[in-house]
Amino acid sequence: MSRPARESLVDGLNPAQSEAVVHRGGPLLVLAGAGSGKTRVVTHRIAWRMREGLSGARILALTFTNKAASEMRSRIGALVDADVVPPTIGTFHAISARMLRSWAPRIGRGPDFTIYDDDDQLSAIKRVLKAEGITDKTVRPGDVREAFDRAKNEGRLPTARDLPADLLVAGGEGVPDAYEAELRRSNALDFGDLILRLAQLLEADAELAETVRRRWPMVLVDEFQDTNPAQLRWLQAVAPPTDRPDLTVVGDDDQAIYGWRGADVRNMLRFQETWAGAHVIRLERNYRSTGHILGAANGVVERNSGRLGKTLFTEAGEGHRVEIEAFPSPRDEARWVASRVRALCRDEDLAPADFAVLLRTASLSLDLEEAFRANGVPAIHVRGRSFYERAEVRDAVAWLRLATNPDDDVAYLRAAAAPPRGLGETSLASLASAAAGSERSLFAASASPPSSLQRRARTAFQGFHTLLESHRLEARRAEASLLDVARICVAPYLDALRDAAARASGRDEDARQRLDNVERLLDAVADYGREAPDARLGDWLERVKLVSDADALPEGTAVSLLTVHAAKGLEFPVCFVVGFEEGTFPHGRALSTGEDGVEEERRLAYVAMTRARRRLLLSWCRERRTFAEVRRCMPSRFLAEVPREHVEARLEVTPQSPSRSFGRRVAPTASDASLYADPVWDDDAVGESGWRVGMWVWHGELGKGRVAGVSHGLRTTLQVDFEGVGRRSVVAAWVSPYDPA
Ligand code: ATP
Ligand code: MG
Repeated sequence: MSRPARESLVDGLNPAQSEAVVHRGGPLLVLAGAGSGKTRVVTHRIAWRMREGLSGARILALTFTNKAASEMRSRIGALVDADVVPPTIGTFHAISARMLRSWAPRIGRGPDFTIYDDDDQLSAIKRVLKAEGITDKTVRPGDVREAFDRAKNEGRLPTARDLPADLLVAGGEGVPDAYEAELRRSNALDFGDLILRLAQLLEADAELAETVRRRWPMVLVDEFQDTNPAQLRWLQAVAPPTDRPDLTVVGDDDQAIYGWRGADVRNMLRFQETWAGAHVIRLERNYRSTGHILGAANGVVERNSGRLGKTLFTEAGEGHRVEIEAFPSPRDEARWVASRVRALCRDEDLAPADFAVLLRTASLSLDLEEAFRANGVPAIHVRGRSFYERAEVRDAVAWLRLATNPDDDVAYLRAAAAPPRGLGETSLASLASAAAGSERSLFAASASPPSSLQRRARTAFQGFHTLLESHRLEARRAEASLLDVARICVAPYLDALRDAAARASGRDEDARQRLDNVERLLDAVADYGREAPDARLGDWLERVKLVSDADALPEGTAVSLLTVHAAKGLEFPVCFVVGFEEGTFPHGRALSTGEDGVEEERRLAYVAMTRARRRLLLSWCRERRTFAEVRRCMPSRFLAEVPREHVEARLEVTPQSPSRSFGRRVAPTASDASLYADPVWDDDAVGESGWRVGMWVWHGELGKGRVAGVSHGLRTTLQVDFEGVGRRSVVAAWVSPYDPA
């Protein structure tokens, strides 16, 4: 590929975009709606400065996901010379982790600290609660974790004030300190710590802060609307407002969707106060979507109060109107999605990879996955973490974690039970209390187990200690390859899985599957080793820990099923957004938190709708199953908020999948708000209006056909098998009885 000429960096940009790209002189806020080229501005601005001679080593760009970081890296790579030093690009968490490794002792950790993910955090909290004599009945450990995260996201270490009231009543005021002590003994940091500890460190140590500033005089942040107060502090330390730093942030207040996790859009709204004198550029042209899609999305988000308000226009033409469909059940909805994808691939020269199905919650994917399978359409539920959440993968990873940081108590407890080595609850409890008493980890304490333990238990602990110590030495051997180290360290577990699989000899699919998964994990280690030949086990572990669901790459050849949160920043030619029901989207939990919750859901709807480039299809179901119960649903308020002029008025014909449950039921489209009133489903063969199953009808466009079902909503709708066309739903008023003779 020939390198674009220097001029082309701004040539293709509109005036506002190029102003942002070449801006000089202090902080810059680019505030603009979806698809207006914010991310493109960040990329081009970096490339521009690099072409001007600023070394990539002096540039730090912060993205919301690791995937976004690698995409940005490759885009920049295509715009600058191949031999230059690349910029530092990563998430706040990844960049923080890297810096903290160098300065770990200053925050009371060793450089090999483990990063505790949500699940590890929960295990640690459970242990702490247990040690403090508090039962799961008093307080949900998940609530404690949430309270801790909230405090850290707000930029402070949790104290008793942050705890759920029930826990305080039960005498749990020592829990926050005990949790921090647990992390310290384990040489571990949780996600919130990564940001907060670094911010605190830089605030406390002026010299260190100066080093960081000199290293990265140019800083850029994408998706700034979703930063939390701790990240703001971090940024203030790295690019202090008093310096008039070369700081660029881009964002969209209408796309702030992480309030539930502590993000605060005020970081962006107050940018000009925090970084006084900051220049603001607004981008108004949307390059992503056609007019009807943009109009529909704007119509919805406009209902929110307290917006900055933006005008967005597109020159891509009006395009297709938004389709809105209603279905009796999620299975019918899923079949419709799959058959619609197939039809569009056939008729419009689209490939499965051009489609995304966006979900409010990951659990909505099951019916869809099944329907795609049944229709022979390749589809993949895009989830970066799902593989690493499997129990056997976590077990294997625990063994690897211990090789780099044997003090990791959460991993110690996992590995001690996988495979079981005769260390029961009681033995572990007495080891734990000895360890806590002497401020040591379980591993350290197990070198000389408490004499109160039985001989057998003591020997088992010592044997485990020796094994882990040998793994640690293995991991430190300079000449050992990453894969060899990993193989040796998971061997005790892998051997046990092999035995189990052999014993089960084909009868137990699960045992086989577990073994396969751990082998796949080793393949992943091998791949990483090839990619980064100098990498150590710790580097790989860090990468695995910082993977999020949003980091999975949509497959090149498949339909992507993904949550709206994971779809942030992405775009697809055709987007379906399913499950637009009250209680699903907006989510029931948000509804219970009042107007703020609803507004965040509305922004989420805006994010979902603005992912679409050419076609947008929204759907809802009259019932949805949650756990064991079937819920009758009302259409989402957001559907009614879509301005009518952007909605496909297809009341007369609704193409449908050949679903059997449809045989007796007819789904009206939801495109008419007046149809939202619940229709009466008529499963009887005869409707009260005289339409009958089996009778012949004539339709002006579709020709002749036989009635297969009747329903009486606000309008009577018929299910008709048209000759040469197939089954369609039609409004009864559009057909006339017909005598085929
Ligand atoms: P989001 O708010 O969803 O993060 P964004 O504002 O970051 O969107 P981009 O992803 O940068 O927008 O751009 C949206 C699409 O428009 C991309 O396909 C991008 O390549 C294209 N685009 C942006 N600017 C231009 C331009 N000047 N000319 C042509 N295409 C452009
Ligand atoms: Mg973007």
